[in-house]
Amino acid sequence: MSLMEFKNFPLVPHMVFGRGSFNQLHEIIEPNRKSNNAPFIFLVDDVFKENKSLIARIPLRYNDKIIFISASEEPKTKYVDQYRDQIKKEFPENPSGIIGIGGGTLMDYAKAIALMLTNPGSSADYQGWDLIKNKGIYHVGIPTLSGTGAEVSRTAVLTGPEKKLGLNSDFTPFDQLILDSSLLTGIPKNQWFYTGMDCYIHCIESLNGTFLNAFSRSCGDQSLSLCREVFLHKDGIDEDSQEKLMAASWHGGMSIANSQVGVAHAMSYGLSFLLGTRHGIGNCIVFDQLEEFYPQGVTEFKLMVAKHGVEIPKGICKDLTEKQFDIMIDVALSLTPLWENALGKDWQKTITRGKLRSLYELM
Ligand code: NAD
Ligand code: ZN
Repeated sequence: MSLMEFKNFPLVPHMVFGRGSFNQLHEIIEPNRKSNNAPFIFLVDDVFKENKSLIARIPLRYNDKIIFISASEEPKTKYVDQYRDQIKKEFPENPSGIIGIGGGTLMDYAKAIALMLTNPGSSADYQGWDLIKNKGIYHVGIPTLSGTGAEVSRTAVLTGPEKKLGLNSDFTPFDQLILDSSLLTGIPKNQWFYTGMDCYIHCIESLNGTFLNAFSRSCGDQSLSLCREVFLHKDGIDEDSQEKLMAASWHGGMSIANSQVGVAHAMSYGLSFLLGTRHGIGNCIVFDQLEEFYPQGVTEFKLMVAKHGVEIPKGICKDLTEKQFDIMIDVALSLTPLWENALGKDWQKTITRGKLRSLYELM
């Protein structure tokens, strides 16, 4: 047995869970202020620009600064580098901390920028596993959308010039999380559903995978039962479902961290790379066609879709060229661990280029 057969997984060391806990932000971060010249930089999803009550509660002191970032595109290495350069230029001393407020997109920006303030060069140089050499600066995650598990993961997913791949490292996870479900108020219903389904799909892929162990099963079971409460047993979005989805996202993230995702994620990366399809909706488009791999999960997913009257786009691959199909198939096939988790070591017997082509044609 090799020494590294089992993953030594870093956890987020501090976490507050509670409705209204955002109001404790000042007390939580202030002990980490290095000096009056080393600011806290708040990276805030620009959807909150006009949300005066939220912005007023951000505890700005000294030269602390808010930077609004759009989540209309998924994070790119070139934007991470630009924000890092902007911060370095404006503040001679490295900041005391980076605080990300938003969905998965802002979680990934916060993690990546905190790392790139202490690691030289472009973030594109660090897309991969354990390429980050230096500990980042103190970084705090405050999710306003739940499902991706980005709040607990050891990666910051970025699209670079050559690939969409995360900064996977032991330095990537947040130092602190503030999980305040009242921040999930006002999310458009479709977005709530797509990102929520990311969590549901994490559970199905983890629980049906060959990498499953008792720990990832316990987290996955817990998350799955919370997802069912939120999406099968409730009609709308209330405080209870906000709280439950926030907890589900954390457990779902913990489950895949200790196992792996599967077919839907592998194929969804193909859509995202070629067509820019966003993670949540892309997973839904793929998962809708995966009855043969996840029969029970897909049946239940379709019930949830019908219950909430959400539209899953169809026909997004209908006008693609031969070459475009090939690109998506190459991306999907490159994700060996995902296939191995889903189907075992012999996955290549089932997953041929032709098989993937016929599945993409259904989407
Ligand atoms: P998102 O952060 O991209 O946001 C989606 C939309 O919801 C945006 O328009 C945003 O402005 C809006 N929004 C966010 N919070 C809101 C609120 N409270 N009220 C109203 N609107 C709100 O969506 P997401 O699904 O959370 O994240 C997707 C991103 O996460 C992708 O870039 C994906 O690559 C990444 N991701 C990362 C990991 C990881 O482990 N690091 C895992 C999965 C996905
Ligand atoms: Zn996902």
